[in-house]
Amino acid sequence: MSAVMITRKVTRKWEKLPGKNTFCCDGRVMMARQKGVFYLTLFLIIGTCSLFFAFECPYLAVHLSPAIPVFAVLLFVFVMAMLLRTSFSDPGVLPRALPEEANFIEMEIEAANGNVLAGQRPPPRIKNVQINNQIVKLKYCYTCKIFRPPRASHCSICDNCVDRFDHHCPWVGNCVGKRNYRYFYLFTLSLSLLTIYIFAFDIVHVVLRSVDSGFVNTIKETPGTVLEVLVCFFTLWSVVGLTGFHTYLISLNQTTNEDIKGSWSGKNRVQNPYSHKNIIENCCEVLCGPTYPSVLDRRGVMLEDSTSPTSSDASAASTHKSSNPVSQTTKSSAPLIPNEHTPDEAKPSIGAGTQKSTSSPKEEKPPSPTSPNAVAPAVIKESAH
Ligand SMILES: [Zn+2]
Ligand SMILES: [Zn+2]
Repeated sequence: MSAVMITRKVTRKWEKLPGKNTFCCDGRVMMARQKGVFYLTLFLIIGTCSLFFAFECPYLAVHLSPAIPVFAVLLFVFVMAMLLRTSFSDPGVLPRALPEEANFIEMEIEAANGNVLAGQRPPPRIKNVQINNQIVKLKYCYTCKIFRPPRASHCSICDNCVDRFDHHCPWVGNCVGKRNYRYFYLFTLSLSLLTIYIFAFDIVHVVLRSVDSGFVNTIKETPGTVLEVLVCFFTLWSVVGLTGFHTYLISLNQTTNEDIKGSWSGKNRVQNPYSHKNIIENCCEVLCGPTYPSVLDRRGVMLEDSTSPTSSDASAASTHKSSNPVSQTTKSSAPLIPNEHTPDEAKPSIGAGTQKSTSSPKEEKPPSPTSPNAVAPAVIKESAH
């Protein structure tokens, strides 16, 4: 007779997520792994604004208006808030299929394709769905083992499928997708305004001060101004250009990825099924539409059982992880596989205005052995013979 103690260790799901994201603050903050360029963005914005507050604001507040530094501070705070919101959030990562789900999809594909003779190339893994009377192809992701929802794409840097994938932006250190696109756009828009604002008041400052003490003396007294003008000048073109490009995309309800691939360019005779054919409606949907919850449930609790003997009978002394399939990364309502009975049977209305979450067939979901409310660590004593 011996007693075995089973200890349940609490793990958050983000600790076990596949893909190449990094997490901090216990899973609240989610970013890409490569963050060097993101730190450069922070340095440029904070550095330039600090120089502006140190060299120009005191003079402009006295000689022109105290509202100038106040508005600059407000704009700076807004830019930083939008940047951090874009960088630290889940862009819309789609959970990978569980082994059982992946097996089911494989079986389904094999059944649909029939027997493929040796040496023959199997047909491409594609499903067609109908969206607003347009046939759209869903491609199979060999890494995530899912048929990607329309507009989703696999980010090679983050190694995840991202819903309404726009692009991976190293400047913000994250993917830009369904859940953070509007914050990314507001970031580029507000950064454009801030850059123009600082650039314009740098010039005003130099002109006003030059009248009093001469141009050369002004440059000597405020060396930061030259640096600011240079940074703002080079930033202006790229950031304003980027904002203009994204304004154009939003007016068409299109993503950068779709624009680059020419998904709706008409060569495939597929018009953009998400566009309302109205610029105002497209802008409203992208910028003011509903916000989507994260389907990763990355702060969800997983319980891992580890057993250890408490008696002298140490024949089963090795501590092992239980076979509990706790690698569940999806919420029970997480969309995983787009409705496959399309276009003839179900005809989902995944259209722009009425975009509906795709649903996975219920029978595919394995029983969830863990409950987020489970109390841990739980100590269970068993008698072994
Ligand atoms: Zn993928
Ligand atoms: Zn990415």
